[in-house]
Amino acid sequence: MPITIVEYTELPAPRAAVVALLSDPTVWATLPTGATYAGTFWHRGADLYRVTTSGPYTADGHSTLRWEFALALQTTPTLQLEIVLYDAVLVTHAHVRVHVLAPSAVLPWQQWPIQQQVQRTLAACIATLKTRLRAAQPAPTVPHPSRNSNGKASLVEQLRPYYPQTVAHFEQMGALDHLEQVWRLERGWERILQGTHDPSIYAEQPAAPAAPLDYDLIYAGGGLGLLHAAAMAQCYGWRVLLFDRAEVGSVHREWNISRDELQALVTMGLVTWDELAPVIMAEYRDGVVRFAAGPHSRLPEHELWMPTVLNMALDAGALLRLMRRKLLAAGGTILDYRSFKQVSVSSGAPLRVTVALETLPDRRREHYTARLLLDGMGSTSPLALLRHAGQPFAGVCPTVGTVARGFVAGSGRSEFDPTIGDILVSTTDTQGNRQMIWEGFPGRGDELTVYLFYYATLTRAGTRRRKPADLELLAPIAPDAPVYSLLELFEAYLRCCQATSILAPTSRTSSPCMATFPDGTACTPRKRPCCGACCPLAMQRPSKAR
Ligand SMILES: Cc1cc2nc3c(=O)[nH]c(=O)nc-3n(C[C@H](O)[C@H](O)[C@H](O)COP(=O)(O)OP(=O)(O)OC[C@H]3O[C@@H](n4cnc5c(N)ncnc54)[C@H](O)[C@@H]3O)c2cc1C
Repeated sequence: MPITIVEYTELPAPRAAVVALLSDPTVWATLPTGATYAGTFWHRGADLYRVTTSGPYTADGHSTLRWEFALALQTTPTLQLEIVLYDAVLVTHAHVRVHVLAPSAVLPWQQWPIQQQVQRTLAACIATLKTRLRAAQPAPTVPHPSRNSNGKASLVEQLRPYYPQTVAHFEQMGALDHLEQVWRLERGWERILQGTHDPSIYAEQPAAPAAPLDYDLIYAGGGLGLLHAAAMAQCYGWRVLLFDRAEVGSVHREWNISRDELQALVTMGLVTWDELAPVIMAEYRDGVVRFAAGPHSRLPEHELWMPTVLNMALDAGALLRLMRRKLLAAGGTILDYRSFKQVSVSSGAPLRVTVALETLPDRRREHYTARLLLDGMGSTSPLALLRHAGQPFAGVCPTVGTVARGFVAGSGRSEFDPTIGDILVSTTDTQGNRQMIWEGFPGRGDELTVYLFYYATLTRAGTRRRKPADLELLAPIAPDAPVYSLLELFEAYLRCCQATSILAPTSRTSSPCMATFPDGTACTPRKRPCCGACCPLAMQRPSKAR
């Protein structure tokens, strides 16, 4: 009775590299099979095996390679090995089947040890193949760095050998300053993943007798916080201060949203549809979610059409500038280039916060008082880090992409239809143990914003660190690259775009977009240092002080 062992694995190289490696008989000689290679024969113990190979076959775009190891002098046992390779662009998925045609003298209960031995050998061979494939990945070329006056290579030249396509692309887009920003962002994330946080930014002080306050509400951060601040000032009459370490309303990115969600701002009286018209870059008639069926999917490829989800592309900068005007018109105060430094909170009634800011770049201290501080400093907010004892996230979602134009118009899958948004699309199985997901949102005219992202779970502190072989598929690892590197993902993005013609030869990219989004769904706060937006007081009654 034949024994069949099946293994499904991911090999860390594109399919062509895997086929080339497996077709090389000298490679087989180095695998830990327990046999010795001797030309057309293999010795294993006293047995002499003849090897016949066939392939690569291609069926359905996959490669099938077959080997048969038969005893040269008898008819059994024979070992048949079949490897089906599925291309996943950056990596190759391999379905390995081994059939052992055991001698008839082998009794059923003697088959188990044979099966175990074959399984162990197979696992060892696969591990060795992976190591060989990783080692065969193109090594970073020796950089020829341009040097600054201190004799140090510029950051761009240091990055070039590890992320050659990324650096070239940023150069082409005239966005090398963005590259440096991304590098800094990565260092910041590395510190966050290490659980770094600063307890000195929060202090409690005994309640003092009621004294006049500068404001009712202070907002730290002018992203989404600016929408909230404008609503609180304009619709509820609170005295509002908002500060940001950058210029408030200066973001350059696209936000996708649904018409219903925007309607909420109109319904509350913050804004009219006429005011929103120049902010809306595009509205689609439909949006698609499409998951590719991999070789092991139990479900066939499926499409979901969602006409009312994320069906509007907004110019986020234009929206925030509109909100800035509204906040100022409602008597609010906006302070640009102020960095949050500390908040001290009264330990009892009356509620009072004193917020310390630092002006940039001259680093002067300023202090403002209010009833509440609302934290709008985003995913890396120092207050959020403190609130969660340095571990505010359950997962991360590194995202990269570009805004491009010049696509071939049409309704085919690889063509550009400005009336349809690609909400979530997967095109392959996992790559490097990550499921890559694409997004494509038309913007103004023939602009298309394309994103590539994956989700990763951070379960325990130990899993936050890069394992040696982790991520090896996406790019050569820079010596000090952080876990979940955006630069590595950008390199993978460009390789995938090329391999799958996602960016057509006619398309021109104009700006990069990158972010690491946190997922905090499974986190429980360790501390509650700030009243923040969770405090209901902000909604209770309008200020009498105006
Ligand atoms: C490329 C990209 C595409 C996106 N697409 C979408 C989309 O289609 N739909 C969607 O819903 N979301 C999208 N998002 C996510 C969305 O941008 C964020 O969820 C949203 O911006 C979060 O807003 P926030 O105000 O909490 O944080 P942020 O937008 O990060 O704003 C935080 C603000 O706080 C300031 N700040 C931080 N620290 C300090 C400090 N110490 N002192 C003073 N100020 C500080 C920062 O300068 C910044 O202005 C996208 C994000 C990116 C980057």
